[in-house]
Amino acid sequence: PDAADDPLIAGLNPPQREAVLTTEGPVLMLAGAGTGKTAALTARLAHLIRMRLAWPSEILCVTFTNKAAREMRERVGKLIGPAVEGMPWLGTFHAIAAKMLRRHAELVGLQPNYTIIDTDDQLRLLKQLIVAEGVDEKRFPARQLAGCIDRWKNRGLNPADLDAAENESYANGKGQRFYQLYQDRLKALNACDFGDLLLHMLNILRTHREVLEQYQQRFKYVMVDEYQDTNQVQYLWLRLIAQGRQNICVVGDDDQSIYSWRGAEVANILRFEKDFPGARVIRLEQNYRSTPQILAAASGLINENSQRLGKTLWTERHPGDPVRVIGVWDAPEEARRVGDEIERLEREGARLDSIAILVRAQYQTREFEDRFISIGLNYRIIGGFRFYERAEIRDALAYLRVIAQPADDLAFERIYNAPKRGLGSKALEKLHVHARRRGIPLALAAIEIADTDELPARARNTFLALMRDFARWRDLGKQTSPAELIRTVMDESGYTDALQAERSTEASGRLENLAELARAMEEYETLGDFLEHVSLVMDNDAADESEKVTIMTMHAAKGLEFDHVFLPGWEEGVFPSQRALDEGGLASLEEERRLAYVAITRARRRCTILHAANRRIYGQWTSSIPSRFIAELPTSEVHQETTLSGGASLWRAQWSEQSDPFADVARAQPARTMTRGPGWQRAAAREYDPTPRRIAESTRSAASFAARPRADIAPG
Ligand code: ATP
Ligand code: MG
Repeated sequence: PDAADDPLIAGLNPPQREAVLTTEGPVLMLAGAGTGKTAALTARLAHLIRMRLAWPSEILCVTFTNKAAREMRERVGKLIGPAVEGMPWLGTFHAIAAKMLRRHAELVGLQPNYTIIDTDDQLRLLKQLIVAEGVDEKRFPARQLAGCIDRWKNRGLNPADLDAAENESYANGKGQRFYQLYQDRLKALNACDFGDLLLHMLNILRTHREVLEQYQQRFKYVMVDEYQDTNQVQYLWLRLIAQGRQNICVVGDDDQSIYSWRGAEVANILRFEKDFPGARVIRLEQNYRSTPQILAAASGLINENSQRLGKTLWTERHPGDPVRVIGVWDAPEEARRVGDEIERLEREGARLDSIAILVRAQYQTREFEDRFISIGLNYRIIGGFRFYERAEIRDALAYLRVIAQPADDLAFERIYNAPKRGLGSKALEKLHVHARRRGIPLALAAIEIADTDELPARARNTFLALMRDFARWRDLGKQTSPAELIRTVMDESGYTDALQAERSTEASGRLENLAELARAMEEYETLGDFLEHVSLVMDNDAADESEKVTIMTMHAAKGLEFDHVFLPGWEEGVFPSQRALDEGGLASLEEERRLAYVAITRARRRCTILHAANRRIYGQWTSSIPSRFIAELPTSEVHQETTLSGGASLWRAQWSEQSDPFADVARAQPARTMTRGPGWQRAAAREYDPTPRRIAESTRSAASFAARPRADIAPG
């Protein structure tokens, strides 16, 4: 059939059609969010198979997530029906590399049945190596080494490729040695880690011509979605495979590059035209996803970035509601407000599946989970555990359970050696034996066993010291609030220190979660009340397939779309994140802004941004400044509201100091919904230059506020 009459192609616009029909030679599709890049790529895959330009098994198609691969497979199935022989190599870089490596494992010294180890195994292995080498694991944590090794692997570097500077990045010049030891150990175990999947394959393709040629011949067509987030090793691997036939089509948006922290390089887009000369560059400009308002807001925002290739976007969609920016008092109100809005949308006929809440950091989900549980709203958390199921939260809860209920053996087992106290499984075994013989709980056995010789003296003393701590914490619990108690316990047990010593992004995420846990506990008077609440929350684990609101990070939402999107926590220090502000560089700020662009452009019909005037951190009210990204939204497309009485003058007051007494006074005022002229916030934000320095000032303690005349902040 004539391709243009094909229903598969008829629905596409001219540049999309060009991308589908230009099957030969390199193609770079560079276009903004929601312009139908993924749709065009899917049609292209279907077209190649339908026109018998290649067997499915001769096509390599890379997606960013497994979910995206599944969706693409389904959509291709719909476009061309079943009855296709073979399957395309369709999946993430990792999935495809794993499939290839199975066939050639022996070339890197592995058996074909090698195992892929997870992060936990990786850390345990590294720890063993570190200890065996006599390096102080406290000073040079395994996690730090794991981070280095991941980075090297993302860049396609083998141990021999490290330069002096890289070698220095772990344990004063032991980077290379440990990297090598680790690789040797993996090989001995017939195992590899995630990063190895690509690195091993790259090494094989580089050193075994016949293997390389085999794949260059096999893959008649290569396609890559979300190309802007490929890292070095992926790029090198791709280039080798595609260089034979040069039929490679990559699809991306430089404005949506949000994984540089995982080694992704936007520069790969620019390199593409150099490595594949004569590449056809196709630009898509029509957005099919979002209303003009959403699109204008996103475009206006991303325009503030200096490092972009630049592009225009337009839409034929009917005008919708303006993007809403809602200022609320604090995080609980933010969650209440979002809950109310979702219930309203439901009454208007919206499906819960079409609604998403996208957060910057995992810890932000807790407030929403608590609220949704209390109002009975179904939700699912994607790309991460539900808050109370995270490892560090479970650890903290286990401490609290042992305090509240010393007979809770399960809780005791969880934390007797977390953080590391040098108590191994042997010690626990002995403790169990003693406890069983005497018919007492483990916590009691840990005290009694000190008077026996059933354990080495060191272990006995460690148990005893731990139980003394617990006795002290139990007393403390009678005098202080649960929130205060958990902070003390986490500090005194060494748990916080151990996380801090890790100096990894993951560890600081865990610390944030623990801080958030303490914050959650502030609402409870007794430990018992709080633990009861938690067991109810944990029990709510609905495994059913009913409709649910989605809660996920902005990072995880890439490529997805929802009718209604809520974006909470747009405050300096939350979004852009404190880390991005601390790093201070233009690059990290621009990456945050791209993330904002990704977040807004997930919305099809409505986008609601929220920011709270106060966040409670470590029991102190900290006033927050609305995110600079809010001030950067084009005012004509944005509708500002605040539930705070006093409006702009009050905002300005919040940009200075804040205190608890004031919070109570303000709460007593009936909240009014105020609609401001579009310009005020931008003007106010400009007047108040939101640099990190000012944030530091604005988070000064409540004490200095007390000296301020109250009139300053009286509602206007
Ligand atoms: P992102 O950058 O967010 O990944 P994208 O460019 O991949 O976005 P798609 O997800 O492919 O965009 O498409 C966005 C929406 O537009 C989808 O709902 C898709 O079905 C629709 N769409 C794509 N192309 C067309 C078209 N030619 N006509 C009508 N709708 C289209
Ligand atoms: Mg896409």
